[in-house]
Amino acid sequence: MSEGFPNWQPTACILCSRNCGIEVELEGRTMKRIRGDKAHPISAGYLCQKAQRLNFYQNHADRLTTPLRRSEDGTYEAISWETAIAEIAARLVNLRDTFGGESLAYFGGGGQGNHLAGPYGKSLRTAMQTRNYYSALAQEKTGGFWVDGRLFGRQNCHATEDVEHADVVVFIGTNPWQSHGIRNARVFLRDLHKDPNRKMIVIDPRRTETAELADLHLQVRPGTDAFLLAAILATIVREGEEDAEFLATRTIGFDAVRAALLDVPIEDYAERAGLALADVQQAARWITSASRCAIRTDLGIEHTLHSTLNQYLRALLYLLTGNFNRPGGNVLHTALVPLMGHSAEGEQQKRSAVTKFPFITNLLPPNILPAEIDNDDPARTRGLFVDSANPLVSMPDTQAYREAFAKLDLLVVVDVAMTETARLAHYVLPASSQFEKCEATFFNAEFPANAFHLRRALFDPLPGTLAEPEIYTRLIRAMEVLPSDFTELKEAATQGRLPFALAFQKLMKQQPELADYGPVILYETLGPTLPAGLAGAAFLWATAHQFAAKHPDAVRRAGHSGEGPMLGEALFEAILNSPHGVLFSVNEYEESWSFLRHKDQRIHLEIPEMLAELQALNAEPLTPSSDYPFVLMAGERRSYNANTIYRDPAWRRDDPDGALRIHPEDASSLGLNDGDFARCESKQGAVIARVELTASVLRGVVTLPHGYGMDYPDETGVRRTNGANINELTAAADCDAIAGTPWHKHIPVRLTAVASV
Ligand code: SF4
Repeated sequence: MSEGFPNWQPTACILCSRNCGIEVELEGRTMKRIRGDKAHPISAGYLCQKAQRLNFYQNHADRLTTPLRRSEDGTYEAISWETAIAEIAARLVNLRDTFGGESLAYFGGGGQGNHLAGPYGKSLRTAMQTRNYYSALAQEKTGGFWVDGRLFGRQNCHATEDVEHADVVVFIGTNPWQSHGIRNARVFLRDLHKDPNRKMIVIDPRRTETAELADLHLQVRPGTDAFLLAAILATIVREGEEDAEFLATRTIGFDAVRAALLDVPIEDYAERAGLALADVQQAARWITSASRCAIRTDLGIEHTLHSTLNQYLRALLYLLTGNFNRPGGNVLHTALVPLMGHSAEGEQQKRSAVTKFPFITNLLPPNILPAEIDNDDPARTRGLFVDSANPLVSMPDTQAYREAFAKLDLLVVVDVAMTETARLAHYVLPASSQFEKCEATFFNAEFPANAFHLRRALFDPLPGTLAEPEIYTRLIRAMEVLPSDFTELKEAATQGRLPFALAFQKLMKQQPELADYGPVILYETLGPTLPAGLAGAAFLWATAHQFAAKHPDAVRRAGHSGEGPMLGEALFEAILNSPHGVLFSVNEYEESWSFLRHKDQRIHLEIPEMLAELQALNAEPLTPSSDYPFVLMAGERRSYNANTIYRDPAWRRDDPDGALRIHPEDASSLGLNDGDFARCESKQGAVIARVELTASVLRGVVTLPHGYGMDYPDETGVRRTNGANINELTAAADCDAIAGTPWHKHIPVRLTAVASV
């Protein structure tokens, strides 16, 4: 509770990966007013307009309050938690034992703000005996993680961008004014814009709010980022402006990269990207002449053609210029709870059962899931457990998802709301909202000071709902995979943390196979001894100890003291007792070199698959389809769109139905005026959208936002759909060959004027 303000409670915004600390004034079960939390160690009072509307997530007509079971006729009946858990567990066990664990799959397990369920999800996958794990992360970032694995030795070696200390900042495929992604984005962008000694370069096909503030905006043609980045890199090596000392001392493989870049026809590629050669050269020269340059990228280059190659070229940009692991560059950082793992390549590479798609960071891309289900292969996916995700709307190819989900033997959805995906499920389990339980995000990618925020519940759980740790524990117990009730551990926990630690270590030594059930065991044993409402965070006890043992100096710099295991205890206590969030590590730049995982401690620049794709760019045809003459960039971030957790459209202050943005001259050629409606049709499907005329998009390009196309009850109870679901237009097969990430920013479409929706 905030001192002096009894009704203002600290928590965090859950709408983007920044998870800004906020304070909420409560009135009964309503979030009456929201303000930035000045005590938050990272956001320090910052917030954007979206957070002000969080009550629309907490309180709306589609909240679930009882487990539901689908009947033969497609209607749902309310059932007790006991019945739901028993039946779901029995059906999971039956599928597992009949067809093998790999016939089961898991989807989600955390959104922008609710990652605490993630470790429990791993326990459930162990009980299901499956590795099949699909996540939104694998429709965005896995290409970059794969590149990181090759460059740095492990796919979870992640470099963040130290934009605050850079004198040149390059934003590629991102509009931080709307998407944030960097600390206190709007304040930072304004300051950068005003500073005569610093420069901002923006690479984006749209004239975004961020581009308006840039010193140089390269308005690249959609889908040609790889050409542009190759041209910039080629300019750098042609002019001999690479950082030779850095490359000689910190990397191997530069010769092969250099040779490939020297083959790049710079002028052609600049033209292909729709840019003047002088602007491309200007960007290269600003980057190489900067004493500190940081590069921030996001979905714009991940959700488009050459997704993985784009992320390789992005990395080469900071590596060839030596802007790595130093102030103002891109820097490897710590993570209290790693968001991703590592998947081996080569002979040990794991692949999906049907499409044989490789795992990256232990994840599979959502693009392949319909194909893994919808076929006659005996190894197909037959049962799916979905937690905190709505793939029917938010993943590519809604139609393929709809058809595939109808063929599942078992679909279980855990959610706070009756989503589009839930309406296809055999069982729906109502979760407590993110403000009705302790929660946390694992998006902790700050450098040099990194923070963690364990949030406490603002409200009691809505009656009938349960928090995920309880749901998962009940299910795993009902699946009868745990060998005991851990009486000895429970007793040790009541005697204190030290006796508990000894007993826990003994158990893990005697039964190492229980390690994957660690979160559930800690929840059942240590959880009841923690402060009220924090049992779900019990697994962080082990996490804090592991982290402190690995990074003792960084933990001490963050303000925690103690030797050996006492340092881990101090960190855990600080996490439990810091409702505004707490620093868990403060690093020195030089330390980041110890995060490299190649044995030779060098960065391995040469990635043959990437160099081959780079070489093949030259032969790529440039033929816009006459059937689909426009390129749709889907998933634009705007002032009032977010992920699908905001179901009540009343939360929006503008853009009520998610307009299709189009250049005025294109609109004129189609006979469209501002506010008219257009049918937007891809090879996959069609949607109808209101058009908004703007010169911020290039000719031949249109945009649609994400987070629309969900249904809701109007004031009379009639269900209506709010705007266009962009995934009616996307095709599962249109994705990156290496990572399976979809090409949302490059969807060929045609447009026709229509009378109305
Ligand atoms: S930047 Fe805005 S949307 Fe993102 S976490 Fe902060 S307040 Fe929420």
